[in-house]
Amino acid sequence: MDHTITETSQELGILREAVHRAAKEKVAPLASSIDELGEFNRDVEALCWDLGLLTLALPAEFGGMERNTGTALCIAVEELARFCASSALLLIIQAVGSYPIVHGLTGKIRDRILARIGEERQLVAYLVTEPAGGSDVAGIKTTAIRDGDEYVLNGTKCFATNGGVASIYSVLARTSKEGGHMGLSFFLVERERTGLKVGRKENKLGQRGSNTTEVFLDDVRVPAAHLLGEEGKGFLLAMKDFDMSRPAVGAQALGIAEGALDAMVKYSTERRTFGKFLAEHQMIQAIIADSATLIEAGRGLIYRAASLYDEGKPNTKIASMAKCFTSDAAMKIATDAVQVLGGYGYMKDFNVERMFRDAKLTQIFEGANQIQRIVIAREILKDAGLSI
Ligand SMILES: Cc1cc2nc3c(=O)[nH]c(=O)nc-3n(C[C@H](O)[C@H](O)[C@H](O)COP(=O)(O)OP(=O)(O)OC[C@H]3O[C@@H](n4cnc5c(N)ncnc54)[C@H](O)[C@@H]3O)c2cc1C
Repeated sequence: MDHTITETSQELGILREAVHRAAKEKVAPLASSIDELGEFNRDVEALCWDLGLLTLALPAEFGGMERNTGTALCIAVEELARFCASSALLLIIQAVGSYPIVHGLTGKIRDRILARIGEERQLVAYLVTEPAGGSDVAGIKTTAIRDGDEYVLNGTKCFATNGGVASIYSVLARTSKEGGHMGLSFFLVERERTGLKVGRKENKLGQRGSNTTEVFLDDVRVPAAHLLGEEGKGFLLAMKDFDMSRPAVGAQALGIAEGALDAMVKYSTERRTFGKFLAEHQMIQAIIADSATLIEAGRGLIYRAASLYDEGKPNTKIASMAKCFTSDAAMKIATDAVQVLGGYGYMKDFNVERMFRDAKLTQIFEGANQIQRIVIAREILKDAGLSI
C-alpha cells in the first residue's frame, strides 16, 4: 500500500493497518454472500464494534478519537470499502447519524444517549430524505410541533440506512411553516417511542448488505430536551455534518476503486490473449494507468478535505470536490474493471460486477453529484461576490 497523504500520526497508521488486516481476513470472505443475500451482517457489525470503528465520531470518553476524527473515519471506510462497500457504509451512517447528537444534544440526557451508543453498542440512523425528494431539503414535510414540554413528530422518511437495525434516530423535521431551510430542526428519537414504525426494507442494486428502510413517524412524542441544537438551525447542523461525511463517502468510493484496480491488475497479469498477458497490451495499460491516476487524485482530495475538517477549517468546497470526483472516478474504474475482465467480469465469481453496482450509489447519496457541482460552483462564485 502506498498512502502518502497526511498520515503523520502513528495512531492513524496503526488504525489503517488494523482495519486493512481485519477487512481482508474477515470481511472479504463474506462480501459476496452479504451482497447475494442482501442481508445486514451482524458478524461484521460486531467486528466493527470490536475495532472501535462505530464510535469513531463520538467524544473520546465514549470511544471516539481525541483528534483526527474525519481522517480516521475516511481511513477506516476506505479500507473496508476496498473489500466490502456495504460494510463501509455502516461506519459512514453511524458517524453521520451521531453527528447531530454529539454536536446538538445538551444536558443530562447527552451522557445517557452517548453511553447507549458507545457502551451498549447501539446503531444510529439519519432520517432526512422523504419520498417527495432528497436533494431539496427545504421541501421536508415531516413536522415537529411543540406541545407543552414535548414535540410531536409526524411524517414519513425513506431510504434510511440502518433504518431497521438502529435504536436511535436523528430526524430532521419542520418546526416552522415559514423559513424554508431555516424552519427545520433535528430531533433525537429512540426506536421504542410509541408511533415510530420501521417500514419496507429496500431491495437494492448495490451495497445490498446495508439495511435501507422507510421509517414512519405517527404522533411520536419526544421531550423538548430531544431537540438537537437550536430550533430552526437543523439545516445548518446538516451542512456541518456533510463537511465530515462527504469526504467519507469519497473514501468509500476510493476503496471501491482500489478494489477494482487490484482486480484488474491481478487478472491482466494472469490472462493471456494473442500470445501475451492482457497487461502487455497497451490499451489495457492505459486503463490501468488512468485508473491509478484517478485514485491518486481522489485520495489527495479526500485526505485534504478530511484534514481541513479535523483542523476546524472551512472545507465545504473541497469536501464536495472529494465526494464528486472520487465517486465519478470509482464508477469509471469499476466499469473499466468489468471490461478488462471481459466475460468473466460480468460473472459474479470475480467481484468486479459487485463493485460496479456498489460504486453507483456513491454518485447518488450524501448529496447527488449534480448537487455537489452546485455546491462547488456556489462556493467559487461566493468568493467572486456572486450569490447563487
Ligand atoms: C441506498 C441509499 C441509502 C441512503 N441512505 C440515506 C440515509 O441514511 N439518510 C437519508 O436521509 N437519506 C439517504 N439516502 C437518500 C439520498 O441521500 C437521496 O437519494 C439523494 O439525496 C437524492 O435524493 P432523491 O433520491 O430524492 O433524488 P432527487 O432529489 O429527486 O433528484 C433526482 C435526480 O435529479 C438531480 N437533481 C435534483 N435537483 C437538481 C438540480 N437543482 N439541478 C440538477 N440536478 C438536480 C439529482 O442529482 C438526481 O440525480 C439514501 C439513498 C440511497 C439510494
